[in-house]
Amino acid sequence: MTRTSHSIADRMALIDASGIRKVFDLAAKMTDPINLSIGQPDFDVPEAIKAQAVEAIGRGHNKYTQTQGTADLRQTLAEACRDEFGWDDDRLYLVTSGVSGALVLAMLTMVNPGQEVIFADPYFVMYSHLVHLAGGKCVMVDTYPDFRPDAQKFADAITDNTRMIVLNSPSNPTGCVQTEAELRAIAEVAAEKDILVISDEIYNLFCYDQPFVSMASIYENTLLFRGFSKSYAMTGWRMGWCTGPREVIEKMTVLQQYSFVCAPSMVQAAGATALATDMSEQVAAYKRKRDMVVDALGEKFGMVAPGGAFYAFVPAPGGNATEFVKKAIDNNVLIIPGSVFSSRDTHFRISYATTDEKLAEGLDILASLA
Ligand code: PMP
Repeated sequence: MTRTSHSIADRMALIDASGIRKVFDLAAKMTDPINLSIGQPDFDVPEAIKAQAVEAIGRGHNKYTQTQGTADLRQTLAEACRDEFGWDDDRLYLVTSGVSGALVLAMLTMVNPGQEVIFADPYFVMYSHLVHLAGGKCVMVDTYPDFRPDAQKFADAITDNTRMIVLNSPSNPTGCVQTEAELRAIAEVAAEKDILVISDEIYNLFCYDQPFVSMASIYENTLLFRGFSKSYAMTGWRMGWCTGPREVIEKMTVLQQYSFVCAPSMVQAAGATALATDMSEQVAAYKRKRDMVVDALGEKFGMVAPGGAFYAFVPAPGGNATEFVKKAIDNNVLIIPGSVFSSRDTHFRISYATTDEKLAEGLDILASLA
């Protein structure tokens, strides 16, 4: 029997995935497309990390772990943070089911219905959906045309109802890397009202032109999110971690106990190996791919050169991204219209996480369409 009418909860109406679905519908008609839409590395998980996870399964690491993550992995995270930030305190760490898991926990833990969450436009799509799921309101700070976060605009966006600010550097979808000066200016604005800042640093390894600067090294009231998905190509392994104000981490841990329970045990067992793995070759390859994109499209499309992640956010010729994406798809190149990540539909996102050959082919076609 096929049911035709289900009573879906009202909150699901707050999550609108129609934009990306339209793109996938168009893409479904493509055979062997040049896919410049993918949000994950094209390299595989390094062998040592795989071996560690396989061995962990053999050794019986197949059960629930402590909700907050194994003591070993949390110790490793504490040591990594001591090295990077000089932290020598008793702060709490929470190992999560990807940064996605951390985002779900943070939004549900922190946002009351009606409260406002500020983030840059363009943004990572999950932010808006999860704020809405929590009953909150998205307050977007326009960062066009160069995607630099202007602290004054963040200051202007703050109201008595502001719950937190979400930052994402390097950014999906723009590839923008925030400078220390920009972060300091936003920290000053946030500090005035003691506003919590989520710093989503899932792309921190992919930073090409300057050393990466973390908001967590600047502003104490930061909830720091880091991942394994992008850095080590472990997107399917579902692990990330966070640290920040003690009370927030404690409450997120309580919610994890009754939702995700714990990150996969064998993945946690491989976490220390991952963190010790040198990814500089892969990052150098991605820097080269970034340069290919800038060389091919920079001048032609009037694009701002991205400094990190593996995306470029490119002005669409004629100013209509959806139209240009249709044209690209007709020519066998899959890209995503900016409207999926933004209140505007003037740009398209290209992911250069693919082989040099496919990327070169795709860039040629896009350039020819300009
Ligand atoms: N934050 C950003 C900015 C992302 O691009 C992604 C993945 N696309 C995530 C978080 C979630 O990553 P994961 O859950 O795999 O750690």
